[in-house]
Amino acid sequence: MSALQPISGKDHAAGGETYDVVVVGAGFAGMYMLHKLRGLGLTVRVYEQGDGVGGTWYWNRYPGARCDVESMQYSYSFSDELQQEWDWSERYAPQPEILKYANHVADRFKLRPDIALNTRIDQATFDETANTWRVTTSDGNTVTAKYVVLATGCLSNARMPDIKGLSGFKGKVYHTGHWPHEPVEFTGLRVAVIGTGSSGIQSVPVIAEQASHLTVFQRTANFSIPAHNAPLSQEEREAFRAKYPEVRRFAREETRNGIYTEMPDRGALDDGDNERRTRYESRWAYGGLTFMAVYNDLALNKAANDTASDFVREKIAEIVKDPQTAKLLQPNNHPIGTKRICVDTDYFATFNRPNVTLVDIRSNPIEEILPNAVRTAARDYEVDALVLATGFDAMTGSVAKIDIRGRNGQTLNQKWAEGPKTYLGVMSAGFPNLFIITGPGSPSVLSNMMVSIEQHVDWITDCIAHMRDRGFEAMEAEKQAEESWVAHVNEVAHTTLYPQANSWYMGANIPGKPQIFMPYIGGVGVYRQICNNVAAKGYEGFVMTAVEQPQKIAAS
Ligand code: NAP
Repeated sequence: MSALQPISGKDHAAGGETYDVVVVGAGFAGMYMLHKLRGLGLTVRVYEQGDGVGGTWYWNRYPGARCDVESMQYSYSFSDELQQEWDWSERYAPQPEILKYANHVADRFKLRPDIALNTRIDQATFDETANTWRVTTSDGNTVTAKYVVLATGCLSNARMPDIKGLSGFKGKVYHTGHWPHEPVEFTGLRVAVIGTGSSGIQSVPVIAEQASHLTVFQRTANFSIPAHNAPLSQEEREAFRAKYPEVRRFAREETRNGIYTEMPDRGALDDGDNERRTRYESRWAYGGLTFMAVYNDLALNKAANDTASDFVREKIAEIVKDPQTAKLLQPNNHPIGTKRICVDTDYFATFNRPNVTLVDIRSNPIEEILPNAVRTAARDYEVDALVLATGFDAMTGSVAKIDIRGRNGQTLNQKWAEGPKTYLGVMSAGFPNLFIITGPGSPSVLSNMMVSIEQHVDWITDCIAHMRDRGFEAMEAEKQAEESWVAHVNEVAHTTLYPQANSWYMGANIPGKPQIFMPYIGGVGVYRQICNNVAAKGYEGFVMTAVEQPQKIAAS
C-alpha cells in the first residue's frame, strides 16, 4: 500500500487499524500536528494517556500553576481568527484558563474524533520490510502507521524522589506534575513542600495562605523574578492583537527564546554601576522571564552574569525580613539563568509569614519520611500532607517510557543510553519515519514552547508532504549528520555558562542519567533558519528512500 494516499483502514496482517500517522500525545504539540496533517488529507490517530487534551496543562494543576510566558505570546499563532477571538484574562494565565483554551482549540478545529484518550502507547516497532510502524496501545490494540510523531512533551514525566519511607507516609502525598482533578484542601493542615524549582516557587505562596503551617524543604535556592501578574484590559488585548503579525514574526525569526521583547544592545559591563542598576530595576519592575534580556552577555560572561545575580540576591535580602532566611534563599551555586529562571508572585515575601518555615536540606538532608513527619539530620518536622515539587525526567523521560524499536531491533533507549542523539532534534538515525516534536537537540525548553512547537509541526508537515509528492516511503537521519549536530549542540552549549549549573537541562536531577546539555541553545531564530536550509537543500542530512531506488542526500 502506498503511504502517499490516505490509508486508513483495517490492516488484516497486523490485526488492527492502519493510519498514515500516529501521534503520541494531545498537548499543544499533538493537537496542532493533527490539525496540520489533516490539512494534507492524511489519516491520523492521536493517542493521549490523560482523559483530556492539554498535556502539561492537563497534569500540572497544582495551586498557583500558571504560565511563565505572557499568554498573549504563549498561544497558537497558526490561526489569526483564533488569536483574535480568544480573550486572555490576565498577563500570565492560570492553569485552568490555559486548559480551557486547549479544549477550545480541540473543539474549534474539531480535533476530538481523531484523539483516543486514556490510551498510552506502550510499544512502537519499525517494520523494515513494509517501512511502517506497528504501534501497541495500553488497551492491547496494535495499529499500523507510516509515520509516528512523538508529541510527548519535554516536562511530562513527573519524578518521584527516592526518599526512604515515602510510601509509609500516613497523610496525603501530592506531586505538582500529577495533581488530582478534585479540589485539594490544605486548610488547617501542616504541609511540607519539597523542592523549590518553578513548581515549588509558584505553589508555596498559595499553599501558605491555606495551611496552618507550611514547611518548605529547599536543597537549592533558585533565582526568581516577580511576575507582576495583573488582569489584561480589553484595550491591552486589542493593542497587542493589532501588532500580532510583527510580534509573531519577530519572536520566530529574531529571538533566541521565542519571546517578543526589547532586545539588548550591549553587555552588562558596558554600563556603569548606576546605569546598570537603573536597567535592572526597570526590568525587575516590569517582571518576568525577560529580565535575562537586560544585557546580551548574561548567559555568556560570568562577570556580567554576576552583576545580575548580585542584583537579584540584593532584592531577596530587601524582601525577606529574617536575615538568616534571606541568606538561605539567595542562590549561590549557579549563575542566574543557567537553571530555568522562575517567575513568581510573592514567593520571597511568603517567608515573612509567621506560618512558613524554610528548611535548608543542603546542610541537613532529609533522611527519611516518617508516617507523620519529615526527618532531617537535625530534627523531625511533623506534617499532615506532603507536596513533592521535585520535577521531571525532562526531555527524554516520556520517550524512554515507550519501547521504541527501530532498525535491527535496536531500542531508542539503547541508542540514547549515553545521552539523546538526534539530528536537529526531530529524528534519530536508525528510526525511520519517527519524528519528535521539540526533542532534545532543538531549542524546545529554552524557548516559548508555542513558537518551537509550531515551527516543528510546520517543518514535519512540509517534510511529509515532500515525501508524498516525490514518492518516498521512508526518511531517516544520516548517522554522520546526526553526529555533527550532536557535536554542534554540545559545542554551542559550552560557549555559554549553562553547563555550570546542575540543571535538568543537563539531566543532572536524575541519578544515573548521562549529563549532557540536551536543548539547542543557538536560539529559535537561528535554528529555524538551519531547519529551513536543510529542507531547501532537499532535506540535507536525511536519507529518503523510494520503493525502487534509494536516494541519498549527503550532509555538507
Ligand atoms: P525542577 O525545576 O526540577 O525543581 C525540582 C526541585 O525539587 C528542585 O528544587 C530540586 O532540588 C528539588 N528536588 C528534587 N529531588 C529532590 C529530593 N530528592 N530531595 C529534595 N529536593 C529535591 O522542577 P519544577 O519546579 O517542576 O520545574 C521544572 C520545569 O518545568 C521548570 O524549570 C519549567 O521549565 C517548567 N515549569 C514551568 C512553569 C511555568 O511555566 N510557570 C511552572 C512549573 C514548571 P535541586 O535543584 O537541588 O535538584
